[in-house]
Amino acid sequence: SLFQNIHFYTTVNRLVDLPRASGLEVAFAGRSNAGKSSAINTLAKRGRLAYVSKTPGRTQHINFFQLGDSHFLVDLPGYGYAKVPLAIRQHWEHLLSTYLQTRDVLYGMVLIMDIRHPLTKLDLQMLEWFSLTKKPVHILLTKADKLSRNQAACVLKNVRHFLTERYPHCTVQLFSSMMGYGIEEATAILTDWFGP
Ligand code: GDP
Repeated sequence: SLFQNIHFYTTVNRLVDLPRASGLEVAFAGRSNAGKSSAINTLAKRGRLAYVSKTPGRTQHINFFQLGDSHFLVDLPGYGYAKVPLAIRQHWEHLLSTYLQTRDVLYGMVLIMDIRHPLTKLDLQMLEWFSLTKKPVHILLTKADKLSRNQAACVLKNVRHFLTERYPHCTVQLFSSMMGYGIEEATAILTDWFGP
């Protein structure tokens, strides 16, 4: 399958260091602690793959994981961490917004949100930046195991309702890394994005 042959490729802190574009890229974004690393590891069925990106000093970096011969899963720095100094935050915003808005080989974005705190101000900022490209966004409402079935279904419905009005290129699903819930649905989307 898509994730059978995935490995860490490179880490980037400046736009000029972005790898030469080859196959397609899919970016994973989310507030720090939302569950992004867990989601990547769950989808890749690899215990600690995405924790490479949590190495101190690398948290503001863009981490590239190669999938198969030519595609890349791109792990973007988690945002919203309160104690980041202004200069670093500005550097991050510039790196992120430029990458998201100008990277030709970027096919789409997977946005990870903790189901208990969906659509924060910074999540909306990400959607705004990216919506200019008209590329697809797929949202994983993760940690769905933290809510009852009914509560989770209700959040899903509300988020979907909010998105369809404002961001027609956006889809959303429930996910739980802990319970292994939603893997097939997410994998189907990614497989479709990366193509045959
Ligand atoms: P990141 O900062 O977005 O990469 O978040 P992590 O993947 O490191 O997860 C942050 C915290 O949430 C960790 O303590 C995880 O164990 C926990 N977590 C992540 N995914 C899930 C999930 O699906 N269910 C539950 N209950 N906890 C989760």
